Amino acid sequence: MPKPDPDPRSPGWLERGCKALSHLDLAPQAETLGRVVHVADGIAFVSGLPDVRLNELLHFETGQTGLAMTLDADGIGTVLLDDPEGIEADARVTGQGEVVQVPVGEELLGRVVDPLGRPLDGGAAITGESRQPIERPAPAIIDRALVEDPVETGVLVVDALFALGRGQRELIVGDRSTGKTSLAVDIIINQKRSDMICVYVAVGQRTTAIERVIDAVRERGAPERCIFVVAPAASPPGLQWIAPAAGMTMAEYFRDRGQHALIVIDDLSKHAATHRQLALLNREPPGREAYPGDIFYLHAHLLERAAHLSDELGGGSLSALPIIETDAGNLSAYIPTNLISITDGQIVLDTKLFAANHRPAVDVGLSVSRVGGKTQKPALRDVSGRLRLDYAQFLELEMFTRFGGISDRRLKSRLARGQRIRALLTQPRFATLRMVDQVALLAALAEGVLDDIPVATIARLRGAVARHLDATQPGLVASVSESGEIPADGYKTLAAEIGKLATHLAGESEGEGE
Ligand code: ATP
Ligand code: MG
Repeated sequence: MPKPDPDPRSPGWLERGCKALSHLDLAPQAETLGRVVHVADGIAFVSGLPDVRLNELLHFETGQTGLAMTLDADGIGTVLLDDPEGIEADARVTGQGEVVQVPVGEELLGRVVDPLGRPLDGGAAITGESRQPIERPAPAIIDRALVEDPVETGVLVVDALFALGRGQRELIVGDRSTGKTSLAVDIIINQKRSDMICVYVAVGQRTTAIERVIDAVRERGAPERCIFVVAPAASPPGLQWIAPAAGMTMAEYFRDRGQHALIVIDDLSKHAATHRQLALLNREPPGREAYPGDIFYLHAHLLERAAHLSDELGGGSLSALPIIETDAGNLSAYIPTNLISITDGQIVLDTKLFAANHRPAVDVGLSVSRVGGKTQKPALRDVSGRLRLDYAQFLELEMFTRFGGISDRRLKSRLARGQRIRALLTQPRFATLRMVDQVALLAALAEGVLDDIPVATIARLRGAVARHLDATQPGLVASVSESGEIPADGYKTLAAEIGKLATHLAGESEGEGE
């Protein structure tokens, strides 16, 4: 403590005193204060603050933040982004004059964060290269290029029949527990073979399910190129509400720098339900299925931000895999039809197929990829062309021949071929295939090499094919992987190799059986 002046009346005391106080700004300052009228269910209704704009960030005196969701004549409906603990009626609220922003940059890679960019993995706080608003305009048509490069998913049924392109938005849709998350996680894990940056956004999921996803990617994928944006079911509804947009902003950073990113949103049905809950609490008029009228706009605007940018803008891309859950396979409910019409195709997962162990349980008849087909590498395109038709015919035939034995040789061979297609398309988790392995397997199928191989052997064949091809055909493997094209006799060579391997494996299992 400074010593008190022995004689306050010593010469110059007034000047000294004035100097000491000169840094204080004593001019009056205007501050607009609002008051909380009531608070419940993740919403605070605030009066006062006439200048607040839509989506503006509000600050509560107890430290929480909120987002202005509705502006009425008598007050502001505010969505809380933090735990409402401590906020009471009459608490003071101030406007921040800014919208919600999140940190973006390489610093986020490998991290688990909440939708405001706050770490959840116990690591250091993230400042990021800059902060960007979570709501940003989507690239205009003129700024976009055609989707022309593939996203290699490593899942044979997707790569062969419903190929995805960089910049595409493909919906993954299915009932509860039909492997939606597993399919998306396999695709993320397969990106360890590519240069893609993956953003996994979990909205309203159980914490254990989120942990399983993060562990799987850490164990098998390239976690140093992934960002996990997590808003579990127990987090404030406001956080779940902004999570998809926040993830988009984090992913856009890479798109805008000419890199390639993939965002998985798991899932948008929970997001829609949160939006409905918040909107109804804010007294917005309900529309179909009680969703507010702007739900279509919300999702369309969100997914429109996925794009392949033109070369002038760096040529980066952002692909999106939104997930939604249906009820009893009802694709014509409000949210599924909305999203089907917003996206560039959908992968439909079916409960019956899942139960019959045909996993991934992709319904080949209902699934479609509207832009990705053109991005398929020529080597794969040539062998997968007839696959869809063959498989569809087989499924129909199978239904007709379920009860009676068939004697027609042609039908029999078609059935045999179909069973082998199905065995090939069935793929366990964490067993993604390289493009060249897919080409080899499909070439073997087309050449009829697999027709005499027992169906049970095909699963083992799929597991062994990568190592076998690397050992026997390293030159061809390298050239196909690099160029995406295959020399004229390449298919025959690959099919013959697969044939040798299959015969060997079939012999082995026969030996075991004896
Ligand atoms: P929810 O509706 O709960 O989100 P979901 O549709 O995301 O479920 P998952 O959690 O991915 O489904 O998968 C459900 C179960 O199916 C998991 O136990 C998973 O291990 C299993 N499963 C998913 N895909 C496969 C597969 N290809 N092979 C074997 N098992 C699989
Ligand atoms: Mg899931």
